[in-house]
Amino acid sequence: MSNETRHIRILPQTLINRIAAGEVLERPASAVKEIVENALDAGAHNISVKLEAGGKNLISISDDGSGMEKTDLELSVQRHATSKLPDEDLLNINSFGFRGEALASIGSVAKLTISSKIENSDAWKICVDGGDFGEAEPASIAFEHGTKVEVRDLFFATPARLKFMKAENTEKNQCVDVIKKIAMANPQVSFKLEIDGKPKLDLMSSNQLGRISEIIGKNFQENALEVKAEREGASLYGYCAVPTYNRGTGEEQYIYVNGRPIKDKVLLGAIKAAYKDFLGGGRFPVLVLFINIPSCDVDVNVHPAKSEVRFRDSRAVTGMLVSAIRAAINSAGHQASTTVADFALHAIQRNPAGSSSRNSYSQNSYSQNYYQPSSAAPPSTGFLPLKQPETEYDFQETGQAQQEVAPEEKFLEFPLGEAKAQLHNTYIIAEKEDGIIIVDQHAAHERLVYEGYKAQIDADKIARQPLLVPEIVALDEKRLEMILGMQEKFNRFGFEIEQFGVNEIKISQVPSLLLNVSLKQLFNDIADDLLEHGTDISLQEAFEHILETSACHNSIRAGRKLSRDEMNQLLRQMESTPHSGQCNHGRPTYVELKRADIEKLFGRR
Ligand code: ADP
Ligand code: MG
Repeated sequence: MSNETRHIRILPQTLINRIAAGEVLERPASAVKEIVENALDAGAHNISVKLEAGGKNLISISDDGSGMEKTDLELSVQRHATSKLPDEDLLNINSFGFRGEALASIGSVAKLTISSKIENSDAWKICVDGGDFGEAEPASIAFEHGTKVEVRDLFFATPARLKFMKAENTEKNQCVDVIKKIAMANPQVSFKLEIDGKPKLDLMSSNQLGRISEIIGKNFQENALEVKAEREGASLYGYCAVPTYNRGTGEEQYIYVNGRPIKDKVLLGAIKAAYKDFLGGGRFPVLVLFINIPSCDVDVNVHPAKSEVRFRDSRAVTGMLVSAIRAAINSAGHQASTTVADFALHAIQRNPAGSSSRNSYSQNSYSQNYYQPSSAAPPSTGFLPLKQPETEYDFQETGQAQQEVAPEEKFLEFPLGEAKAQLHNTYIIAEKEDGIIIVDQHAAHERLVYEGYKAQIDADKIARQPLLVPEIVALDEKRLEMILGMQEKFNRFGFEIEQFGVNEIKISQVPSLLLNVSLKQLFNDIADDLLEHGTDISLQEAFEHILETSACHNSIRAGRKLSRDEMNQLLRQMESTPHSGQCNHGRPTYVELKRADIEKLFGRR
C-alpha cells in the first residue's frame, strides 16, 4: 500500500448492493428462493419456474399474484425498498420478505427484467443491468395480474462469485431442492418447474398430505408417524418416519418455522436426540415438521438468507420437538419400514439364485411393480441396504435339522408368524398366512435386551448390586457438585453414591447390568454430559447410551443355534415390545415379504 492519505467515502449504491448480494445470493438457488417467496408474499396461486444451465444462464419465474403498479415496480429494484413492513415492526413479521434487498441485490449482479401488471391496469417492465436501471416501460403481458421475473447471467458483474459456482448439475439440484422445500409448506399453491426445456416438477394444488407424498413419494406416507404437540403458544405438526426409513443425508428433512424452511443446528440437534436410540450416526430420518410460534417469540432477522432463526426460548421449542417425536416413535410399536421388504426383493432380484431366464423375467416384473417412478430418491441410493448373504444356501450342510414341521401351526396369524427354520444360525424364517418373515436374531435380541433395561428403569425396578469393595472416584469441584446434586436421580438408576473426602465420591452400589463397566470412565462421561447440557434429560440419555452398549454385549450373537421354542419366544417378545422393528442402530430387525410379492418375483402374477 502507498503512503498517500486515503479518505473515507460513502460507497456508490451499486457497490453497496453488490456487497449485500454476497450475503443474500450465495448461488442460483438463493435467487430462486427469493423470487418464489416474493410470489408467495404477493398471494400467487400458481408459480412457474424455468431454469437454464442450472440457473446460471436463466432463471425465469412467473406468478399470478397481485402484481405491481409502475411506481412500485421502479421502487422494487432499489435497496431497502419493501412493502412488507407497514408498521416498521421487526417483531411482527408475517411475510417471507421484509429486508427489501433481494431484487436490488439480484439486479446489481445480473441482468434482471421484471414485468408486472395489477388487475384492470396496464403492464410495465423494468430492466436492471449490473445495477444500472432506467424508468419502467410499457409491456405486453397476457395475464390479468401477476409478475414475471427474469434473471440472466447471474453473477456476471461479480466474477469472484461466479468462479465459485459448482457444476451445472449441482446448482440445478440446489434449485430443485429450494422449490421442493417451499412447495412443501405451501400445498395450496401449484408449482411448475422446467429445466432446460424439460418439465421437472408439476405440483398441483393439494392438501398437506397430498403435497408430502408428491414430493417425498408415497413410500413415506406408509412409513410416517404423525407428530403433534402444543406448548405455551407454540405448536408443532407434521410427520416423521419410522427409524428404519432413513437416509444417508439430511436432504429429506423438511423443517419449517412459521412456514419458513429453516436450517437450524439447534433443531437438527433436537431431532438427532429424539432418534438417538434408534439410529446410528450418519443416518437421517425422513421428516416434515412445521413449527408455529408467535412471531414475537422468534427472530428471523439473523442472516440475510433468512434460513436461520433465534428462539426466545429455544429450550421450550427443542423440548417440545424431542418429546413429540419420541411419542410418535413410541406409537409405532414393532413396525419396521415397508420399504425394507421392497429392498429385500430388490436384492434378491439383482442376485438371483435361479437360472438366467428366470432372472430376466423377474427383472421385468420387478421394475414394473416395485419402483416408484417419481420417488425422490431411488431405493438403491437412499436407504440403508440390507446385507447380502455372503454364501449361497447349502441345504446339505445346514438345511436338514430345520426341516421338521410344527405339530400345530398356532402362530400363523400372529404379526410375526410362526418360526419355521433358522438359517446360517443367524436368520429366523417364520411363516405367516400372507407372507414370510425373516428376522435377524442378533439385531432383534439386542433391541429386546435394551428395551428390557429401559423398562426396568421406567418401572423403578432396576436390579441393583452392592459392591463388596466400594469404588472411589475423584472428580474436580464442578463435576463433583454436579453429580452430588443429582444423588437421588442416581439412586433411581441403581447407584448408591456419597461424597468421600474433599473431591471424591464413594460408589457402594451399581445397577447389576453395569457391574463390569469402568465407573471412573462412566462418572466422568456423565459429568461431562451434564456440564455441557445441564438438563435432567441428559442424565437419562447418558444412561441410555451406556445401556445400549451393554445391551449389545449381552444379546444373542448371530451364529447361535436356537430351538424352535426359543425362536417363537423371540418373535412373541418382539411383538409385545415397542421399537423392536429396528435395532439400536436403525437397521431393521426383520423383513416381511408378502406372499403376493413373492409370487410376482416368480412371475406367478
Ligand atoms: P422484500 O421481499 O424483502 O420486500 P424484495 O427486494 O424481494 O424485498 O422485493 C421488494 C418489493 O417488491 C416487495 O416488498 C414487493 O412489494 C415487491 N415485489 C417483489 N416481487 C413481487 C412479486 N412477484 N409480486 C408483487 N410484488 C413484488
Ligand atoms: Mg423478497
